[in-house]
Amino acid sequence: MRKLIIVGSGPAGYTAAIYAARGGLAPLVIASSVEAGGELMNTTEVENFPGFPEGIQGPELMTKMQEQAERFGAEIVYDDVVGVDLGGMVKKVVLGSGKEYEADALIYATGSAPRKLGLDGESRLSGRGVSYCATCDGFFFRERVIAVVGGGDSALEEATFLTKFASKVYVIHRRDELRASKIMQERAFANEKIEFVWNSAVADILGQDAVTGVVLEDTVDGSRRELALEGVFVAIGNDPRTRLVTGVLETTSAGTVWVDGRSSRTSVPGVFAAGDVIDPIYRQAVTAAGSGTVAALDVEHYLAALGEAGEPDATADQIEGLPAL
Ligand code: NAP
Repeated sequence: MRKLIIVGSGPAGYTAAIYAARGGLAPLVIASSVEAGGELMNTTEVENFPGFPEGIQGPELMTKMQEQAERFGAEIVYDDVVGVDLGGMVKKVVLGSGKEYEADALIYATGSAPRKLGLDGESRLSGRGVSYCATCDGFFFRERVIAVVGGGDSALEEATFLTKFASKVYVIHRRDELRASKIMQERAFANEKIEFVWNSAVADILGQDAVTGVVLEDTVDGSRRELALEGVFVAIGNDPRTRLVTGVLETTSAGTVWVDGRSSRTSVPGVFAAGDVIDPIYRQAVTAAGSGTVAALDVEHYLAALGEAGEPDATADQIEGLPAL
C-alpha cells in the first residue's frame, strides 16, 4: 500500500507530487493515458509562469515539472482512473488497465476543461487563432480584429482584457441579454474597442492554417453571414472534471469540488483536492501549482496525525475528529 496517490498531472498534480516526493511520501501520480500534463499541453508559448523570462512552451513546462517530481521519487503511471473507492481509511483507485492501487491519502487534481462550441473549424484551428484563454494568448493578437464568444463574466472579462492588445473585439452572444454581472457589463459597454454582436451563434470558424473569419447564424431568423477576423476566444464556461467523484465528494454551486476554507481538505477525510477542479475563478497554471503545494502539505499533516492516532486501528471518525490543521 502507498502513502499517497495523486490523480491528475497538470501543474497542481505535479507540484503536489514534487512536494510530497521531497517529503518522502513516494507518491504515485496517475497521469492519464491521453491528456498527461493537463491543459498546458494544448498551449504554445507560456509567458506568465514565473522563472521563465523568455517564456516556455506549455508541453516543455509540463515535462520539466514531471522530471522534477520523478527526481525526488514520484512514480508516474500513464493510465486513466476509471473508478474510485474513497469512503474508507484506505483510498482505492482502479485504472483503465484494470490495475488497482491503494493509499492512505489521495489528492484529486483532475483540472477543468473549457466548454467547446463543437465545431470542426474550432478543433482544426485550436492554437492557430482559436483560444480558450485570453491571459495565455491575448498577447499574440496585437492590433488584430478578434472575437470573444459568450455572454457571461468570463466572456466580458476576457473581452475587456483583450482590448489591451487587439484593435477591435467583437463579443458574439447567442441572446440579446448578457448573463454577466452588471459591473462587467458596464465596463464592457464603456469600452470603445468592444462591439457586441447580439442574437448570433458561431456556426463555423473559417481558415486553413489560421483563422480568417467566422460564419454567424442569427438565432432569431436563422440567416447566415460571414465576419472577417483573426482570432476567436471561446469563453462559454468551464467544466471542472468531477465525474469520477460525483456523489462521493461534496461539490459547490459552481460545480467544483468543495474544500474546507483555504485548505485542500474535501468532505471525505484523507481525500484532498487541488487546482482547477476546486477553482471556479482564477484557473491559472501558477495558482494551480500553489494549490498543489497546499494539498501536499495538508497530506503530510494528515498522515502525521494518522500515525499519531494509532494507525492501523484508527477509524475514519477518529481521524475526522482531529483538530483542523
Ligand atoms: P457562465 O456564467 O456559465 O456563462 C457562459 C456564457 O456562455 C453564457 O452567456 C452562455 O449563454 C454562453 N454559452 C454557453 N454555452 C454556449 C454555447 N454552446 N454557444 C454559445 N454560447 C454559449 O460561465 P462563465 O462566464 O465562465 O462564468 C462561470 C462562473 O465564474 C460564473 O459564476 C461567473 O460569475 C464566475 N466568473 C466571475 C468572474 C469575476 O467575477 N471576475 C470572472 C469570470 C467568471 P446564455 O447566457 O445564453 O446561457
